[in-house]
Amino acid sequence: MRKFELTVLGCGAAAPTPYFLTTSQLVNIHDHLILIDCGEGCQLTLRKKRLKFQRIKYVLISHMHADHVLGLPGLLASMNLLGRKSVIEVYGPQELESFVKTVWDKTGTHIDFEVNFHIVDSEIPTEIIKTGSYVVKAFPTKHRVKTCGFRIEELSGAWNIKPYAKEKFNLSYHEINQLKRGENVVRKEGVEVKPSEWCVAPYPNRSYVFAADTAFTPKVVEASKGATLLYHEATFMESEKEIAKKTMHSTAADAGKAAKEAKVSKLIIGHFSNRYRDLEGLLNEAKAVFENTYLAADGDSISID
Ligand SMILES: [Zn+2]
Repeated sequence: MRKFELTVLGCGAAAPTPYFLTTSQLVNIHDHLILIDCGEGCQLTLRKKRLKFQRIKYVLISHMHADHVLGLPGLLASMNLLGRKSVIEVYGPQELESFVKTVWDKTGTHIDFEVNFHIVDSEIPTEIIKTGSYVVKAFPTKHRVKTCGFRIEELSGAWNIKPYAKEKFNLSYHEINQLKRGENVVRKEGVEVKPSEWCVAPYPNRSYVFAADTAFTPKVVEASKGATLLYHEATFMESEKEIAKKTMHSTAADAGKAAKEAKVSKLIIGHFSNRYRDLEGLLNEAKAVFENTYLAADGDSISID
């Protein structure tokens, strides 16, 4: 199976602490590296884990709150210092480009490689990246400022034709392509070649959803439908429900509810408030609603399958 892995670079909310940095993660899909959000100091986790961050191709930024963007001007500056030449594609809110460029301008930072900014302004789920083997969609969440989550999904692989089927049916080029797409081949003389009998099915598509900062919302449930892995924020416990509501964040129980309603396979909770030293309470609250739940931790890598 091809590589599809999440590495958590920062799983805290608001400000870095000795226990965790703010939100940032690295997704490796088929050996393409995608950085999601870029909290302050995320380059420290990238370096400690010896991740090949010069290979990051895409950066996805969910919203303009400090704990999700402060690391970006610095990370790109470090890439430049270390001799990066290849282009990087950055997707995020409209204000992102001027924020990053202002920091560079005021600090005399010159960037020698191409940084392309793309505005993500999605009211509905929108495809923002498509390669030969996966797609990335942005979808709106429910937060105090305009915020997008991201869904990274593999595209269907081709059906594999069993070797003896080609000879047995003397398949034409056109028929081979039909079977690879999973379509039945029907010939004039009534012979039918079915992929279910003569091919090996492709692996099911795996998907990863990063739900960003959000209060509980059906929009996130819809965008997370059937995901292999959902990363949902769980900033607070139910005892802080009122603060969660006011700041438009989720409780751990809310995260469990989203995972349950979306019927995902696995849930990881993160974006923890600094008030919790012991995260077991958050985990237990989410698990009470959705059993297959895990706590995020800085530096952890999780295979998405
Ligand atoms: Zn936020």
